[in-house]
Amino acid sequence: MNEFRADLHCHTTSSDGSETPEEVIRLAKESGLSALSITDHDTIDAYTTAIPLAQEAGITLLPGVEFSTVLNQKSVHLLGYGFQVHDEAIKNLCLKHAERRRNRNLAVLELLKKHGMFITYEELIEAIPVKLASTGRSIGRPHIAFAMMNKGYVSSIQEAFGKYLGDECSCFVQGNSFTVDETIDTIHQAKGVAVIAHPHLIKNTALLNELLKKDFDGMECYYGNFPAHVQTRWLKIAKHRNWLITGGSDFHGKAKPNLTLGRSWIGQEHFQALLERLKTNNP
Ligand code: AMP
Ligand code: FE
Ligand code: FE
Ligand code: ZN
Repeated sequence: MNEFRADLHCHTTSSDGSETPEEVIRLAKESGLSALSITDHDTIDAYTTAIPLAQEAGITLLPGVEFSTVLNQKSVHLLGYGFQVHDEAIKNLCLKHAERRRNRNLAVLELLKKHGMFITYEELIEAIPVKLASTGRSIGRPHIAFAMMNKGYVSSIQEAFGKYLGDECSCFVQGNSFTVDETIDTIHQAKGVAVIAHPHLIKNTALLNELLKKDFDGMECYYGNFPAHVQTRWLKIAKHRNWLITGGSDFHGKAKPNLTLGRSWIGQEHFQALLERLKTNNP
């Protein structure tokens, strides 16, 4: 028997991952993972195909999503787990995000035009390598970066983010945004648990302290490539609050080749604790 490992953070072609939901389930099986959560940005579209495939592969698939929120004008990612994939509250928030993303992408393309980079919305869609029949896909800055590269305006995704698309750059648009509080409320309404995503990446201490006051159920203590001594800090905070402890790789496929599926994970004890909490939410 393999050791129980659950990777609760990864992306597919339904947002900015390079691998389809089919491929991610195949990789999960190949990596010997026992459980998985697909946490695409602002969409749960992948679950339509992933649920039957995970079942076939004997992998426990926990419904998940990574929502984009804004706190003190800073972008904050928040994970939701364990809701029903047909839940209206979650589906509605995903739809609102789709509209936000469309308007924001159009605004970014306008700004790029001012810098002499001409990309139409159609060209943006056309540039995405894997075509999907579904319309529930989250399109964002990584796709715009890819289109910029395709048209020869930049030579790498890093250059696109570094010069134009990064949070502090000239073509960054925040767009319509959703608060941490309303996003946590939506996840709770859907009987899921709300988790602070990758606190490791939050450099602003004031922002982190604000976030720690919110009504979260858990924290992503094990994340990506971070070594054990870094996790200690997050485990201490989570345990002190009696929060759930989650973890995952943030696998994006070819876009972030260092973050392989299963790179970070939680064991049976933390995964069971999460399932127990969900059971009390859904008696
Ligand atoms: P969006 O949701 O459209 O704001 O895009 C955010 C996503 O872009 C993040 O989740 C990352 O996957 C990706 N991203 C952010 N910054 C960078 C960067 N400097 N280089 C490559 N990808 C990035
Ligand atoms: Fe991403
Ligand atoms: Fe994130
Ligand atoms: Zn992520």
